[in-house]
Amino acid sequence: MSENCLFCKIIAGELPCDKLYEDDEVFAFKDIAPQAPMHYLIVPKEHLRGPEAVTEASERVIGKLMRIANDIAQKEGMANYRLVLNNGAGAGQTVFHLHMHIIGGRPLAWPPG
Ligand code: AMP
Ligand code: ZN
Repeated sequence: MSENCLFCKIIAGELPCDKLYEDDEVFAFKDIAPQAPMHYLIVPKEHLRGPEAVTEASERVIGKLMRIANDIAQKEGMANYRLVLNNGAGAGQTVFHLHMHIIGGRPLAWPPG
């Protein structure tokens, strides 16, 4: 757990969230400011700042994020969905605990702009 990390606090139960999934390695919850009818976040429980912090020790869990994200999307009935990982403030990252957005529930234009 990293001090002053919003997502570490959510994972630890110190801040509320609308939880969708949890196991010993992965946590998923609803985004507080949805950009689409369905907008979820999936994170490793381990505090990793972003892709640059991924090592051989953590890469299996990063792959698991994708498998669980797909399970959630199927369970929630998303026929199509987008996975987004913003890396760096200039790319829109505001919380520096690696996370993937799972976005769906409406047609998704590409490129996103
Ligand atoms: P990013 O901009 O990629 O770092 O994504 C951070 C996401 O976290 C944004 O989509 C926020 O809306 C979301 N967020 C911020 N605070 C909370 C919170 N307390 N609970 C759920 N989602 C949050
Ligand atoms: Zn964290």
